[in-house]
Amino acid sequence: MIHGCVMSKDEYTTIRIPKELSKELDGLIGTRGFRSKAEIVKEALRHLLLQYARMPLFQHFNLDEIDEHGVKVLDYQLNRIVDVFVKPEGIRCAYCDANDCVHVQHLLTVPSIKDVIRKRRKDGWDLPEV
Ligand SMILES: [Zn+2]
Repeated sequence: MIHGCVMSKDEYTTIRIPKELSKELDGLIGTRGFRSKAEIVKEALRHLLLQYARMPLFQHFNLDEIDEHGVKVLDYQLNRIVDVFVKPEGIRCAYCDANDCVHVQHLLTVPSIKDVIRKRRKDGWDLPEV
């Protein structure tokens, strides 16, 4: 059980972790100012949460060259790469088979993609106004 001394018992929760991992934490006690396993776990979780908060839900690449291969969007929730095609007949997500899914919506907020879409719209492509 991991406890602090100031907060009441109700403000804590117990999380079970593998013994092996716990032993590794034992090795860190007394280093880097850590006095307990709870401190190490709290520090580790704060780092993780901070990292996640900074990480966008999606990441796109090959955005300068929208071609027949489309734009690849890395979806961290699905943990997979999703292809979004930009064609004269419109924009379409191959994964969702939709033109208004989160992947398309995300791409429509990316400045360099918006530039390309505006240009293609002028060329007569059936793309949303961005
Ligand atoms: Zn999609």
